[in-house]
Order: sequence, then C-alpha cells, then structure tokens
Amino acid sequence: MLVSKFSKSVFRCLAAIILLSATQAGAHPGHEHERDILTDRDLSLDQCAFAGQWPPGVGQQFVPQAPDSELQSIMSQIDPTRIQAIIEKLVSFGTRHTESSQTDPVRGIGAARDWIAEQMRGFAEASEGRMVITTPSYIQQPVPDQIVNTTNITNILATIKGSVDPNRVYIVSGHYDSRVTNLLNNIDDAPGADDDGSGVAISMELARILATHIPRATVVLAAVAGEEQGLFGSTFMAQQFFEAGADVQGMFTNDIVGSSTADDGTKDPNDIRLFAQGIPSTDSPALASETVSIGGENDSPARELGRFVAEVGTNDDTEMTVRVIYRADRFLRGGDHEPFLALGFPAARFTEPNENFAHQHQDVRVVDGVQFGDLTEFVDFEFTARAGRVNAAALWSLAQAPGTPRNVTIDISVLTNNSTLTWVAGSDVDDDNLAGFEIVWRSTIEPFWTHTIPVGLVNKMTIQLSKDNAIMAVRAVGKNGFKSPAAYPFPTG
Ligand SMILES: [Zn+2]
Repeated sequence: MLVSKFSKSVFRCLAAIILLSATQAGAHPGHEHERDILTDRDLSLDQCAFAGQWPPGVGQQFVPQAPDSELQSIMSQIDPTRIQAIIEKLVSFGTRHTESSQTDPVRGIGAARDWIAEQMRGFAEASEGRMVITTPSYIQQPVPDQIVNTTNITNILATIKGSVDPNRVYIVSGHYDSRVTNLLNNIDDAPGADDDGSGVAISMELARILATHIPRATVVLAAVAGEEQGLFGSTFMAQQFFEAGADVQGMFTNDIVGSSTADDGTKDPNDIRLFAQGIPSTDSPALASETVSIGGENDSPARELGRFVAEVGTNDDTEMTVRVIYRADRFLRGGDHEPFLALGFPAARFTEPNENFAHQHQDVRVVDGVQFGDLTEFVDFEFTARAGRVNAAALWSLAQAPGTPRNVTIDISVLTNNSTLTWVAGSDVDDDNLAGFEIVWRSTIEPFWTHTIPVGLVNKMTIQLSKDNAIMAVRAVGKNGFKSPAAYPFPTG
C-alpha cells in the first residue's frame, strides 16, 4: 500500500522553489548553503517542475520509456537510400491513380501494386515463415464525383503474427494511389512522391527490417489503394479486421511524411506531426456527454495512443520530436486512420510538420517559374527515414508491451479525497510478460503524464490523490520493460 508524503512534499517543494529563485536572482547568496542542504534531502527541481501550477503528489516523476537494443537496431537499419529507391520506383509508374490501368506492366496502379507485392514477398523470405503477404481486394462500385468506373481495389499487407498474442494487432499503413488536380484524371502523370510514396516507403522499409524479428503481438505493414478517391482501401482493411474479430489496439497512417520544408522555405527537419482525435465521433451522445462531464475529453484512446507515441518516439535514436495535434486531421483533409476510428479502433495520422500545397494533388507544371507537382526532387529521404524510425519505435514498443488495460473504472460511490481504480488486463491471452500495472497521472491542465505510481500485479488500487484535481489512467508494464499506452477510467459506483 502506498503511503503519501503529499503535504510534507508540498511545503518542502515550495520552500525549495522560493530558495532557488532567491539564489538564482543573486539576491541572497547566503541561501546557497540552505539550498544544498535541501537538495541533499531529495529536493530536486524535477520534483517541483510544475509546483507553480500543482503540488507534487504521490508517485514518481514520469520518465519516458527508452528503446531497448533490439529496437535501436531496428531503427538504425532504416535506410534513406532504400527509401529513395522505393519512392523513385513508385514515381516511375507514371500515374498510380486508382482508376488507371490495372493490367499495363509498366504504367498505372496495377504495375505499382504488383511491384509492391513482389517486394514484400521478397522481404518475407527472410522471416522463416513468420511474415505473410496478402493482397485482399474487392470491387468498388462507382460513386458520383469520386470514382467513375467499377474498380478493383487491392491492398497489400505484410503480416507478422504475434508470437504470444496474435489477435492483438498494430498497423502501419500508407496509400499507394496518387492523383493530380482533377480527382478523376486517371491519364496524366501523378508522381505522388510525397503523397504518398513516402508513407508506402515507410511500410516497406519496416516490413523489410521487421521480417527478421519476432513481435509478441501481431504487426501489419500495409499499402492501400483508393485513398484519394474516398478512403476505399483503408475502409476495406478496417472492416476486414473488424469482421475477423481482431483486437486492433493501434493503427497509424503515414500520409505525406516526405518533406519538412514549408511553402516559405522554412525547414523543420526534426519534427513530425501526429493527429489524434479527441472524443470519438462514434460515441453515443450520452457517452460523449458523460465524457465531457468528467473532464475526459482529452483522454480518448486515440489521444492516449498519441501520448504513447510522443513518449517512445521522441528521443536521440529517432532524432525527432513528435508533435501531437489535438485534432483528427487537418482542415479540409482526411486520411486512412478515419475508417479505423469509425470502427472504434485507436488510430492516428503522421504528417510532415509543414506542407507545401503546390506539391500535393497538383498537375505537374511550371507557372511563372514555379514548379508544381508531387515530384521526387521535393522529398527529403533522410527526413522520411527519421519519420520511419518514429513509426518503428511506436510499432515495436506497442507490440512488445502487454496490451492496453481494459474496463478501467474510477469509484465515485462515496465522497473521498482518495481515488480507487479498477481494471483488467488488455489481452485475450495469459501474457507471461505481464509484470504489473502503473497508475499514471497529471494535472488537468498538463498535456502529458507527469507522474507514475507502480502498483504491482493487481486489478484494483486506492491512491491518496484526489480524482477531483488530477487526471489518472492505468497502463500495463512488461517484464521486458515495455509499457502499454494508458487507459482512462470511467466512473462506476
Ligand atoms: Zn495522401
């Protein structure tokens, strides 16, 4: 049972802040000695980092989980020259418009589809049978203003079944179709180097590298069609997982992840945006209302997934900072994560930090000396490789951790300044890697977790922290060190 030193800590922390402020200002140099004494008694600035907003409470300061040596090896193998070669090959098919030729061996989406599948099958050869390549397809009927002809939509999936928990699934996807200014133009060159050759290149690089690794949960590297026409391929993919009863606990689309240069030339090479939806649009009005009433609007499964990616994807190995955007997608745009969100799966979208709209969805042309079009020359392969490392960190950390806890509740049956949470393990199997759980918490105005409280292998815990003042959630901890995304509690009692 945890014993809080809460009020004592508050006063010591505030005292340290006051003393340190005075010391730093040079007003009372004699206080230096007092500060040292306090520091010796375990008064670090870290503990007081947000004392101005909120006193330090129970538990330890939240420290982001670091990659293990296997994950570092995976990340280091992501190769910018291979990414460049993939994007150049995809562009060489002229157009990958969803309604372009499916039978021409050198031009059109069919040639691109067959090349991606062939490459994936080559990667799978190194997997000793663990990686399976499939090309599920269906016939899409015409939709006014979106798709004129009855069209075969084919996805390419590289699946590595989890060694311990095969029904728990994590997906990284990109779309291999492309477009120009007129959505229905299936004739002219539509290079789609950044949108979305870059995303497909990440799926393919991760497939190549992960083929020789053994994930505990299932990982899927996907390239889908029909995105531009109406998210057709991803809708089909999400539906297939749903109908198969798969427990998809995380899906990422990489869409436009190939450049860090803004319209005005500003470069932002070490940032990647991750768009994460708030209250699920699939929630019933009653559930959405309850979520708002308990202050849970910022803790949807997609947001917790976003926090997780920021935790594992922002480090010296990726050389990236994950900027979580509290929004499902950019204005006027959508993406392949949305069909997964619509079926209740946590999903989010990676996109480069700045977009140049002259390089997306544009006829290839020069106007007043300005080159329009989604050309390879505008892609930064090193940046795309770093985006790939963020994906590798997220995907591998998810697959090696125990599942995200389920049925997390907080007891509101009586008025108390304590908080009692309950939960169950987030897996269909008895995971021998499950070491226990942690309650994570933060002030209501903090974007990310600031504290963690290890509670062991239990399914219920009371902590001496008021649910009225903090946001709490539960995450699982693996014996291998990997920790799951957190799950937010809903009231019971
Ligand atoms: Zn796109």
